[in-house]
Amino acid sequence: MPCHEVEIHVFPPLKEETQDDLYSLTRFPDDAVRLRNPHIQEMEQDILYHLALGSGSHDLVEMFSDVRFVCMGGTPKRMEGFANYIMDEIGHKLPAGTTLLDISYHSYRYSMYKVGPVLCFSHGMGIPSVGILLHEVIKLMYHAKCKNPIFFRLGTCGGIGIEGGNLVITESAVDGMMQPYLELPVLGKMQRRPAILDKQLANDLKNLHCDTDPFSVTVGKTMCTYDFYEGQGRLDGAFCDYKEEDKLEFLQKIHDANVVNMEMESLCFAALCQHAGIKAAVICVTLLNRLHGDQVSTPKETLNKWQEYPQMLVARYIKKQIGLPFDIPQREHPQVVKNPKQAHMVRQESACFE
Ligand code: URA
Repeated sequence: MPCHEVEIHVFPPLKEETQDDLYSLTRFPDDAVRLRNPHIQEMEQDILYHLALGSGSHDLVEMFSDVRFVCMGGTPKRMEGFANYIMDEIGHKLPAGTTLLDISYHSYRYSMYKVGPVLCFSHGMGIPSVGILLHEVIKLMYHAKCKNPIFFRLGTCGGIGIEGGNLVITESAVDGMMQPYLELPVLGKMQRRPAILDKQLANDLKNLHCDTDPFSVTVGKTMCTYDFYEGQGRLDGAFCDYKEEDKLEFLQKIHDANVVNMEMESLCFAALCQHAGIKAAVICVTLLNRLHGDQVSTPKETLNKWQEYPQMLVARYIKKQIGLPFDIPQREHPQVVKNPKQAHMVRQESACFE
């Protein structure tokens, strides 16, 4: 075969694993995460390079064994915001005078914050970025002996028939050709992994929506693309070889096939979590309705507000799971300053004598 001809055959064969098979491949008898890779346990140490952590250099069990929820989203700023938000919501207290730190700061790649049982990551943009992170986070779960962690992606997306500022929970993910699996060339062969998400978890999250919420929640199919512009049929990229009618015909066609949003990470997130036997959900806020346009022109302040909506739903789920009342904010503001006016005067006075 000439080297430019790629042999497309499925590796390993795409077959549905039974829940029992999957469980025994991905869990130890005590429910701790087990890896589907025999090489890792033979290594003297495992360096989680993009997290700036290692199994030889860090006591990963001491640092992370209590993690029950892993939450990831695109940007470091948003995930730092989420870490502080979830800290207030679950009433997690830091020792006086301390603050959350980015545990992966030294990697200059991803950010990581830990708030009790919640681990928050930024995953960057697109399938390659979220894929690399997931390999290392799943290995981290194994090294730390975490038991049955649940993974969430909290993201942004383009709505298909849904206006900006509403939530979509992914029921299943498809690629730009409507194929429900992640394709990755491995050793010159195409590997396919089904992009399956937990239906029960998606419904549980939807049921946490309250009538008073400023957003609607839709559960539906997500198209995950390799690009924001041409890959999502936009007319405003640097290149465009199709007409507006072609774009609208495509968007309408996928909408008729129950696709309700488009983003760039869910296929990989779903496929790798499924392969690791990890219960996972993707919750995205729509930034616009793609049937009405391409440009994200909503003011930044509004976009920032909208990006809190997936966080609200996930926080309710986590609170419910750990036995806290999920519909009452635990702590609006840290209550350490009893009298802000007096505290301000004390600060000013000390500054005078420095
Ligand atoms: N993210 C995407 O991938 N597409 C959009 O339209 C908006 C956010």
